[in-house]
Amino acid sequence: MSSHDQGRHVAAVVGGAIAGSVAAEVLTSAGVLCVVLEQNDRPYGKIEDGLPRWHVKQRKLEYERIDSRLDHPCVHFLPRTRLGRDIDFRELIEQWGFSVVLLANGAWKDRPLPVEGIDEYVCKGLVYQNPLIYWFNHKNEKSYTGPRYEIQPGTIVIGGGLASIDVVKVIQFELYEKALCARGIDTSMLELEHKGVPAVCASHQIDPGELMIDDCTLYYRRRAVDMPLAQFPENASQEQIEKTQAVRKKILTRVMEKYRVRFKECHAPVGALVENGRLVGLRFIQTRVEGGKAVPLPGSELEVYTSLVVSSIGSIPELIPGIEMKGELYKFSDPETGEYMGCEGVFGIGNVVTGQGNIMISQKHSQQLSRRILENYLGLGPRDTVSPLFENGEEVVRQKLEPVKAAIQKKPPLSTAQISCILERVQRRQREIGYKNYRDWIKKVTPPDLE
Ligand SMILES: Cc1cc2nc3c(=O)[nH]c(=O)nc-3n(C[C@H](O)[C@H](O)[C@H](O)COP(=O)(O)OP(=O)(O)OC[C@H]3O[C@@H](n4cnc5c(N)ncnc54)[C@H](O)[C@@H]3O)c2cc1C
Repeated sequence: MSSHDQGRHVAAVVGGAIAGSVAAEVLTSAGVLCVVLEQNDRPYGKIEDGLPRWHVKQRKLEYERIDSRLDHPCVHFLPRTRLGRDIDFRELIEQWGFSVVLLANGAWKDRPLPVEGIDEYVCKGLVYQNPLIYWFNHKNEKSYTGPRYEIQPGTIVIGGGLASIDVVKVIQFELYEKALCARGIDTSMLELEHKGVPAVCASHQIDPGELMIDDCTLYYRRRAVDMPLAQFPENASQEQIEKTQAVRKKILTRVMEKYRVRFKECHAPVGALVENGRLVGLRFIQTRVEGGKAVPLPGSELEVYTSLVVSSIGSIPELIPGIEMKGELYKFSDPETGEYMGCEGVFGIGNVVTGQGNIMISQKHSQQLSRRILENYLGLGPRDTVSPLFENGEEVVRQKLEPVKAAIQKKPPLSTAQISCILERVQRRQREIGYKNYRDWIKKVTPPDLE
């Protein structure tokens, strides 16, 4: 055991992406050893597999940040190790002997489209957002072996959030790249994203209408002004509400113009249209928004035929055997504390807690919770430097954490023998995988043609 391994506590962090790597950074800065379990070869999570690949600079920057957090002598990285498959949840919390377990495993299950029996048609006319974006981000790599999707003219997307905007863009880029290529024009997804479809066509003296493309349509169950493309400030005034609604409309209009996307508001899918075992469309009902809710209008049903439906209505955490659920989320007592109610000493951080968010939210959530866990659960670090939320006098959070804090103060640090026992298990797993050190591993598992 090296001198770096003499920490008082050892934490397990499940997931190595934004939330997981930030937690590792905070915990190791106080001398806690971190074992980071990551299901994939590379730890970049939704940065690599969610954020579409036209975000070239942002993806590179976040990869580098994650690398610098995980390439640390107090971090023991376990790639290719999935909780619930390679390591059982109960085994992790009962047998490994960690001081604390942080779940930073994000939201990787698409929320099921609420249409009866629709999941029978996955890959038979229906595709969900997560596999679609994964394919889009990796499809040009020689080693890619996953499913391949043929984007169809007239594709319809069910959604309304920021991710669904990326989905409609992906579809348009595929359609226009192919149509322009058929005319001998070489363009790229990067050029289409940057300049927009009409501008790229114009640079080749083409009217996009001439290409006869049946553009993609985004269906949303509420109004354009209700789309969560911009958030209301806390306790928003009427004026602030209207301003945010105007921003939402502006974002949508820009997407529609720049990428030739069509939009239908106040349409909720209610039924599948099926022919010969394939989904060939959806039945919608029109809605009216009342008190923020989409209320169906009786007698307004209509049928829309298409060869491809993409569902982009949000992501939720995946089921992991042994982890108890509360609705579609894990059984956390409160997103602010991230405390898992199923057993003591387990916390959630980042996307896994709410099922939604962005890079900044995951990062901040992980930072704040990891600092509080350090201070209030592991008893490390002075209050003034560790928990700004406490300092800001957030009494509600303070009260919520009091019972946690009381439990923690009794928690003894791990002995050298206990630490050795954990690290022996870690090293055994690393040997099985062929992992020696972080940088060499990343080099080995990064496809040479990764975009
Ligand atoms: C299409 C799309 C576009 C987006 N665009 C933006 C954007 O423009 N700007 C922005 O800020 N945000 C964007 N986001 C959101 C952003 O990417 C995420 O909010 C953020 O990256 C989540 O970070 P995280 O660490 O909480 O979760 P994740 O990135 O999901 O990380 C979870 C990690 O846990 C691992 N894991 C999962 N299950 C297990 C398991 N059982 N065992 C071990 N490991 C496991 C995963 O492999 C992953 O590495 C977008 C998301 C999508 C889907």
